[in-house]
Amino acid sequence: MSSRHSTWPVLLCIYNLPPWLCMKRKYIMMSLLIQGPKQPGNDIDVYLSPLIDDMKTLWNTGVDVYDAYKKENFKMRAMIFCTISDFPAYANLSGYSTKGKQACPVCEDETNSIYLKNSKKTVYMGHRRFLPPNHRYRKNTKEFDGKSELRRVRRGFDAFSRVQNMNTILGKRSRTEIRGNWRKRSIFWDLPYWKCLEV
Ligand SMILES: [Zn+2]
Repeated sequence: MSSRHSTWPVLLCIYNLPPWLCMKRKYIMMSLLIQGPKQPGNDIDVYLSPLIDDMKTLWNTGVDVYDAYKKENFKMRAMIFCTISDFPAYANLSGYSTKGKQACPVCEDETNSIYLKNSKKTVYMGHRRFLPPNHRYRKNTKEFDGKSELRRVRRGFDAFSRVQNMNTILGKRSRTEIRGNWRKRSIFWDLPYWKCLEV
């Protein structure tokens, strides 16, 4: 919080390697290093766009790569299948604000939250709804908030439908429209396969 400078590295891992290799430095590529006095915030898409362009090429046409073992060329294709970040950066990547009453991108407007007046913080409870329907904790009122939990896990929803028609303008004078906690149509949606992914 007190830092006067920000550095955000964007790393790519090759995931179709054995698990004991894919996390080695040799197989991790730093594709971007975003420098600045301030964090890129929602404008991170501007920095990501050359990377997304390359990823589109790797998906649509592929690139010629030399296989040193077979001593021949082959067409290499690649895709991004998930992103890993901390929760604040998740907001910048996904376009879903992870602050306030509706901070959970899975529960959206059904997020359970309580504002604690004295500590001035929003806390998130109500996790019993994720338990199996007959779990004994659901009926246990004494150990919890005095109520039994009858709600089930929220059904999945199509995140793309939330941002599909959103007019996203990035930059200093951005006047992007806001829909609930959705703040932008993330650049990841430009990848042709992004809406087919489960995560
Ligand atoms: Zn949730």
